[in-house]
Amino acid sequence: MKSPQSTRRVIETLAGQHPSADTELHYRNAFELLVATILSAQSTDARVNIVTPKLFAKYPDAHALARARQASLEKQIVSTGFFRQKSKALLGMARALVADHAGQVPADMDALTELPGVGRKTANVVLGHALGVPGLPVDRHVLRVSNRIGIAEGDDPIQVEAQLCGALPKEMWTLASDVQILHGRRVCRPKPMCQDCSVRDDCDFYQHVITKEKERASAPKKAGAKSRDSRRVRTSAR
Ligand code: SF4
Repeated sequence: MKSPQSTRRVIETLAGQHPSADTELHYRNAFELLVATILSAQSTDARVNIVTPKLFAKYPDAHALARARQASLEKQIVSTGFFRQKSKALLGMARALVADHAGQVPADMDALTELPGVGRKTANVVLGHALGVPGLPVDRHVLRVSNRIGIAEGDDPIQVEAQLCGALPKEMWTLASDVQILHGRRVCRPKPMCQDCSVRDDCDFYQHVITKEKERASAPKKAGAKSRDSRRVRTSAR
């Protein structure tokens, strides 16, 4: 795995390539971001952004959402998928906020992850973007990008979060997640577009796999050249 200095350089370089990296969910406060992030599971940010304006107008805070009827809530969020599961999570989350936190979103990882439907990734999104508490959400994009580059190792999000947080100063945690998510969506996709990547020189995947592929691709040409050479030798020997 790369040194903390290299990890920092990689994140700074990616931030240069993606200067507008930020969560793409629309929100005005921590409550709205929490709702939007729960809805974004197995959906797209664009789809969630279509649904949330009406949802936030009807349920502007935890008190209003806690009083919602599940059937009515399900209708409003049906297009985000898994609407039954999500409506239960939203109701449970809002009721727990009212019961335990006076309707406010707590700026604390343990308190957040005790809320129904809120995992570590969701909590980190809300902490880092809406509550000013450093957080490094690790999703599938961060896992793929960080492992390919070699700034993290493993497919366990908690482990990768710990590795990246250990290598970076706190003020870079949220940025590190945002730039890798955007890089994973736009450039370092499952089929990576390495020709458009600013961190090729630092990327283990590019250096090892792509370079080997290029070598393999050029091997038949050399063989062809060799057989032409040997034909020449045979011809000249006659
Ligand atoms: S060089 Fe390719 S594999 Fe490496 S981070 Fe860039 S796009 Fe991903």
